[in-house]
Amino acid sequence: MTSSASSLLVIYTGGTLGMVESPDGLVPGHDIEPRLRRALASLPPARRAELADFRVIATPTPIDSSAATPLDWQRLAELIAKHYSEAAGIVVIHGTDTLAWTAASLAYQLQGLDRPVVLTGAMQPLEAPGSDALANVEAALRFAAEPRLQEVAIGFAGRLLRGVRSRKWQTHEADAFTSPNHPPLGDWVEDEAVLYPEQGLQHHQRGAPRFELLDYTPLAAGAVPRIVLWPGLAAWQLEAWLLDDRVKGALLEVWGGGNLPDDPRLAGVLAQACGEGKLLAAISQCPHGAAAIGTYAAGQALSDAGVLSGDDMTPEAAVTKLIHLLAQPLPDEERRRRFLTPLVGERTAP
Ligand code: ASP
Repeated sequence: MTSSASSLLVIYTGGTLGMVESPDGLVPGHDIEPRLRRALASLPPARRAELADFRVIATPTPIDSSAATPLDWQRLAELIAKHYSEAAGIVVIHGTDTLAWTAASLAYQLQGLDRPVVLTGAMQPLEAPGSDALANVEAALRFAAEPRLQEVAIGFAGRLLRGVRSRKWQTHEADAFTSPNHPPLGDWVEDEAVLYPEQGLQHHQRGAPRFELLDYTPLAAGAVPRIVLWPGLAAWQLEAWLLDDRVKGALLEVWGGGNLPDDPRLAGVLAQACGEGKLLAAISQCPHGAAAIGTYAAGQALSDAGVLSGDDMTPEAAVTKLIHLLAQPLPDEERRRRFLTPLVGERTAP
């Protein structure tokens, strides 16, 4: 799949960056290519000269990313795979609300990338006064032209983050994304895209791309819920979530370093769900640090029940990985082994 392509591909999927006013509020706009080129033409000539050539395509119906589902992740990965050999790097323009979810899912679907896929968006539409959109697009184009970047990344507000380690962290500030348990892959410094190759995945890639383009249809409607513990969670509530036949796996966000309330009825529901072959994993609901299931007696019930440790993964990385693994016809043990193995730098190696 290698090619000598030197130009980039920009894929517009929707989001605030391309939105325009409508009587009902902001909606995804069209004609994104001339709008992008007009905005980039306003950069100082020396900065314009640094940009690689690019082509723009759009998904059939650009959306507000709050409406995205796993099927959108699947279609986007297919689109990238289709055009992969034509582009030296790919920029995906995406709404910020679920951008980190899409980035995480793409990382699993596009394993072994040998060129950059950079997702970006904006907190303000391209044409809004003082918008962050142009700066984000410029930096994304520059990072996407950097052949040493060989993974799915998020370029936003002057920082390049590993996609499968990132989270949206601000509702309104321009600096909207963070990567709580992994250092940045790069920074925008004095109008240059500066990469930190030692943080990147390129050394871990084993040769050619080995994309896993799967059918997420059977899992797209609620098969993998995300359940955040709260004091007072009752076993009947966990039962309602986990013992439904439509549920194939779940992410639990537990306390601190990996703890669960000391309630045998909760542990019983977890054990029953695991016994039914559901793939359950747990991470901490603390945004920083790892969960180590079984360190405290209060967490032992999780490992006894068969719940897998998500270590320091983000919720986005854990849920999308569960979906990705459940979409494959794998023996249970292999699915569990892969969940515990870093596939694309999504969790710290044991
Ligand atoms: N609701 C928008 C979206 O996610 C927000 C944004 O793009 O910033 O598409």
